Amino acid sequence: MRNLLDRPGSANIGAYRRLAAQADGHEERIRALTELPRPRMDDLAEFCAIAREAAHRTLDMRPFDVQLVGALALLNGQVAEMATGEGKTLSGAIAAAGYALRGRRVHVMSVNDYLARRDAEWMGPLYEALGVSVGWIGQSSTREERREAYAKDVTYAPVSEIGFDVLRDRVATSPADLVVPEPSVALIDEADSVLVDEARVPLVLAGAADPGVDAPEAAVLVRRLSRGYHYELDDQGRNVFLTAKGTDAVEKALGGINLYESLDVLTQVNLALHAHALLTRDVDYLVRDGRIHLVNQSRGRVATLQRWPDGLQAAVEAKEALPASETGEILDSITIQGLIRRYPQICGMTGTAVAVEEQLREFYELKVAVIPSNKPCVRVDEPDRVYRTMADKERALAEEITRVHATGRPILVGTLDVSESERLADDLKAAGLDCVVLNAKNDAEEAAIIARAGERSAITVSTQMAGRGTDIRLGEGVAELGGLYVIGSGRHASSRLDDQLRGRAGRQGDPGGSVFLVSLEDALITQFAPEEPLPPAAGEDGLVRHKRAAYVVGHAQRVAEGTHLDIHRNTWRYTRLLERQRDLVLERRNKVLHGDAGAEALAAAAPERWAELTGEVGEAVLGEAARQIVLYHLDRCWTEHLGFMSDVREGIHLRALGHRLSPLDEFHREGVAAYRRLLEEVEKRSIEMFEGATITAEGLDALESGLKRPTATWTYLVQENPFGDAFDRALRRLSPRAKRRQDLDD
Ligand code: ADP
Repeated sequence: MRNLLDRPGSANIGAYRRLAAQADGHEERIRALTELPRPRMDDLAEFCAIAREAAHRTLDMRPFDVQLVGALALLNGQVAEMATGEGKTLSGAIAAAGYALRGRRVHVMSVNDYLARRDAEWMGPLYEALGVSVGWIGQSSTREERREAYAKDVTYAPVSEIGFDVLRDRVATSPADLVVPEPSVALIDEADSVLVDEARVPLVLAGAADPGVDAPEAAVLVRRLSRGYHYELDDQGRNVFLTAKGTDAVEKALGGINLYESLDVLTQVNLALHAHALLTRDVDYLVRDGRIHLVNQSRGRVATLQRWPDGLQAAVEAKEALPASETGEILDSITIQGLIRRYPQICGMTGTAVAVEEQLREFYELKVAVIPSNKPCVRVDEPDRVYRTMADKERALAEEITRVHATGRPILVGTLDVSESERLADDLKAAGLDCVVLNAKNDAEEAAIIARAGERSAITVSTQMAGRGTDIRLGEGVAELGGLYVIGSGRHASSRLDDQLRGRAGRQGDPGGSVFLVSLEDALITQFAPEEPLPPAAGEDGLVRHKRAAYVVGHAQRVAEGTHLDIHRNTWRYTRLLERQRDLVLERRNKVLHGDAGAEALAAAAPERWAELTGEVGEAVLGEAARQIVLYHLDRCWTEHLGFMSDVREGIHLRALGHRLSPLDEFHREGVAAYRRLLEEVEKRSIEMFEGATITAEGLDALESGLKRPTATWTYLVQENPFGDAFDRALRRLSPRAKRRQDLDD
């Protein structure tokens, strides 16, 4: 039946099941051995049997057949969909060991430091028994520790740390400084979240400090403007624009300038207005220790090391009257998608993959293997309860918690954001109910708290992803009460997030239940289904019983998912060209870094100078000087190229609009030409510097020769501008007008 029901894009798992069944056949023989043999990877059934016995002996867990099936899917380069609690950590470790035994180096990518370390240490004895070495990396690992961890067969690390290491290697000037080995296998935990939701996130390496740009004047100015009169929001709440009255008011306040003739000022005002009208403190960001901390919308928690693009970041800092944080020059950047596509072999695991099957295929050529659960899931998922207003919903939520809590059954409430968690906790406290609130604490602490959410009478309030990856076991007598009861205080922008929240109950055949309370005033509905006619009035309790309610909610969610997919596709179209150019530049750079490409180029371009200097300082010194000069200009020109391309990207829509061209074609045309100039420029500048450089027997005098690398570098993640880039917005606003003008022209 399963095979018949499989969707066309899914992988067939029949062969894995047969292998797992064969592994059963080897079990007795292997169990009798005192010393386990090193598995041969040409016999997967035997490999499974040995891995199973090794796990049983070292971890006291005998992998279930479905865990072996999952491991085989991973070993075959697929994304294994396994529900929460099915034991993905063990499946992943078996697969990673398998790859290592095939002679591949494996990076197991986690979503945070805590999980990377926990999993590496937990699975350590299993790896040891299989003769595979393992290490882990966290944010605070030193360069030496990182190098050691990467030297192991299997390395556990957060995605972002691997990305930052790759970026730092990107500017190394000596092969001895390199940290990350050639990419081989990436095994990705929470694969949908990393490969789809965070795919577009750029990891950035910045250098050379500049004092940040202050924008307080604009911030003060927009505070006096009122919504509906001076400015309007669009339907989806993603865009804000000045009305004619607002424009007049701003122009007057700024001493009678014409805003549309001073684009810098207009940009400042627009950014300030975005920060003021569209970003809400405690929902989109928190202010703590005098700094802005972004809240990651897909995880509902503080995103450390993240910032918005510079202008918006400065505008929010000005809005909160904080000093502007440092901005630097972007030396290089890579998206998570670009980072992962470097690996010749990718595989991953998650509880929710089928819903993003199409994207996994489109962006990574990955197939999904749906792994059945070990025991049937008996969780009771109730239909959504839809309320007319937010107030009705909040009242019902408090009532439902009180009612269920009275029975002693543990409750986990998933909220959409930090401020909602806090409001709910206050309400519950006022009603005399004790609860634990989880949000934006550190990962290890969250894990410890969420692990206790299944104890009798516990009420835990958490933003959706807090404590992800942690097992919730049921306390004494809780199964008889119905197990853990999960209540969602609203549907998420993606059904996968809903499913992950539900999945916290009913693990491994445990009893459990889930329900979502939704209001027609929830942001999901007002943003993504604003035009849908609402169902007829509700009863006294505000509950809407008409079946249209469920339709509206589902529809809003589908629109939200579609919007995100469009944005993902569109960004990828633009970044693909840059990623390709980046690869080409890196290929060249490696030839200079590891070989004599720099020396050869300069010797050929300036033979006289080369001959003269060879006589003075010798081949070796001169070769090294040439390497430093060419590397410097390659890096410098790449940085400039990135800056240029980001300007092109911003301006392209306007230009394309003017000439009625496709913005993407135009971007490519500009990009290809700029890349050609980059290569010429590297050569020209390298020769120029070489001609005038001070090179002695001690080597190149960098300072004298004008070679100034940034004194400090740092890394961060950019959270995408939640409103699209400036000119996407301009385009949206301009298009009706531009179109009218075009019609007139025609
Ligand atoms: P997931 O990441 O899939 O939600 P975990 O890897 O965190 O699941 O494992 C969930 C729990 O199941 C862990 O507490 C682990 O100890 C337990 N577990 C996993 N596999 C087995 C097994 N084969 N036998 C017994 N317990 C297991």
